[in-house]
Amino acid sequence: MSSMISVSGLSKSYASGTRALDAVDLDIRKGEIFALLGANGAGKTTLISIICGLVTPSSGSVLVDGKDIVRNYKAARAKIGLVPQEISLDMFEDVISTVKFSRGLFGKRPDPVLIEKVLRDLTLWDKRHAKSMELSGGMKRRLMIAKALVHEPEILFLDEPTAGVDVELRRDMWELVRQMRKEGVTIILTTHYIDEAEEMADRVGVINKGRLILVEEKETLMKKLGRKTLTVQLADPLKAIPPALADWNLSLSEDGNTIEYVFDTKAERTGISALLGRMADLGISYRDLNTQQSSLEDIFVDLVRTPMEAAA
Ligand code: ATP
Repeated sequence: MSSMISVSGLSKSYASGTRALDAVDLDIRKGEIFALLGANGAGKTTLISIICGLVTPSSGSVLVDGKDIVRNYKAARAKIGLVPQEISLDMFEDVISTVKFSRGLFGKRPDPVLIEKVLRDLTLWDKRHAKSMELSGGMKRRLMIAKALVHEPEILFLDEPTAGVDVELRRDMWELVRQMRKEGVTIILTTHYIDEAEEMADRVGVINKGRLILVEEKETLMKKLGRKTLTVQLADPLKAIPPALADWNLSLSEDGNTIEYVFDTKAERTGISALLGRMADLGISYRDLNTQQSSLEDIFVDLVRTPMEAAA
């Protein structure tokens, strides 16, 4: 797959002195869904804003389909649809004029058929003559998406698209994202909801304090960094973990009925058979066993933990 966005050596220090981005290199492939994860203030919006040409970088460069976002702004920007975090609409303008105007901004010919399709897809068609101020919060968000899509961008940025939206709108948005991907649009989204990245993304990037600390295929990431927990339901409760099982670092539930063993899925030996063998030697029998894969959330929390927290 070829590269749709190419970010190299990108740094940004704001006038206040905050270093929001620090030497970021990133390639976004054509047609992928890329999820950018990071805590509040990690630098996600700054990165998106620079790629979209809204904020100037302190150093480094961004190519959008081969076009430099600073030197060739118009051509690069025309390929991008941006749904920002904040809703910004002319409150006195009606829905249909708002989207027509957005399309016109990119010098595209009027296209009533396309406009109707976009508004219908976002269930805004019935509201096309309503002024922005007459829309509910969810409808305003839909309108922000319509505005971003109406010039037929090849790349779509969604900056925390589902923060504070209801379940139905969230589901509709993901349906739309899947649809757009089928049509070949490259999608970059930022989110705090890790389950969303887990469900939607092909690749995941983790940004922490302005540095891109990891970029990985979602599947690989989950396998590589994933740990599993083995839960053993004991036939008879234990008062304490026997010293002979100390090597496994087990934890015992309060009622003494369950043992948990966290193991590394990438390790050559997981230690499970040795553990079960030793338990049999000690006469500890069990009723049930099950294993559970750690989620992307566990992985993420581990990655962005400060060394101090990790040591605690
Ligand atoms: P969130 O998840 O809260 O939206 P984010 O990952 O998008 O956070 P950014 O908005 O990129 O983070 O902010 C990164 C850092 O840059 C923060 O420390 C923020 O305070 C700072 N920052 C962002 N915009 C500006 C600005 N215009 N002027 C000064 N500092 C800024």
